[in-house]
Amino acid sequence: MKCAYGLPVILLLHSCVSGPSNSESPREKKDSTVTAILPLGSIESGQIRLLSAELSAFYGMKIRILPPSKMPESCRLKNTQRFSAPLMLKWLIDRKPAGCNRILGVSTRDIFTQKGPHPHWGIFGLGYKPGEACIVSDHRLKQFGNKRDTFLTLVTLHEVGHNLGLPHCKKHPSCLMNDAKGTARTLFSEKKWLCSNCRLLLTKP
Ligand SMILES: [Zn+2]
Ligand SMILES: [Zn+2]
Repeated sequence: MKCAYGLPVILLLHSCVSGPSNSESPREKKDSTVTAILPLGSIESGQIRLLSAELSAFYGMKIRILPPSKMPESCRLKNTQRFSAPLMLKWLIDRKPAGCNRILGVSTRDIFTQKGPHPHWGIFGLGYKPGEACIVSDHRLKQFGNKRDTFLTLVTLHEVGHNLGLPHCKKHPSCLMNDAKGTARTLFSEKKWLCSNCRLLLTKP
């Protein structure tokens, strides 16, 4: 099963921004899992360092940053500069190094998945639930200006949460596991925070 953050651009025009506030790490103890981060294309090294620090602090996992890679031509939609996120997940799985529990691809390019009747629905991120690969992109987050990296962090924590087995959350509007339901509005109300129900799911053996 895959879960995606989607974004129809038209819905963004009247949105207002309220950034995340207090964060609360769901894991009291450091765990021993390792997440590999694969920088793709022209993603900034500062963004990779930020996501590495945020994942480590939030989930307590270890991080291994891999050498940057080009976006795979095999995942590109013909005659466009758009890339299939489901194909990217399969491509990423093949690049997960031994000793790593999962791999996160971070891109600046436009990624899409199928959503209902839309074969090429633009998204922020996609991840297996549970699973060993997820991908995020800041392509559709650049328009949020100085909130770009805050939102990229939220999307990343959300997709890695899916990899860890977390489903979408209906318990709390501020929980970062809320379903974006195909719009960006969810990002404006989410905090860098998991509700008690999601934290319980995460810490179950
Ligand atoms: Zn999701
Ligand atoms: Zn929740």
